[in-house]
Amino acid sequence: MADQDQLTNCYGEPITLDAPGKYNGRAYPAAPGSGPDGATCKTCRHCTYNEMYSGRRYYKCGLVRSTHGYATDIRLKTPACSRYEINKEAG
Ligand code: SF4
Repeated sequence: MADQDQLTNCYGEPITLDAPGKYNGRAYPAAPGSGPDGATCKTCRHCTYNEMYSGRRYYKCGLVRSTHGYATDIRLKTPACSRYEINKEAG
């Protein structure tokens, strides 16, 4: 029987996070790093942002309900999660 606490990547392979608690847990629909190797939120089609009048952008995952606060902010360089889908429109 499989260990239900074991994190797996999108291929079902077991993974360990490099630093548990490093990422904002409420902001990501699945564990960062559980997606394809080398991919980040920056190239995911679910990556979106809220832009302030000042022009500053706060990046969010479109699969997570935004709180309009920092609790749901993501970082573009975060390793992709298992819900990652490549953004084919990004250059
Ligand atoms: S990889 Fe995509 S789906 Fe996963 S947290 Fe980042 S933007 Fe969201």
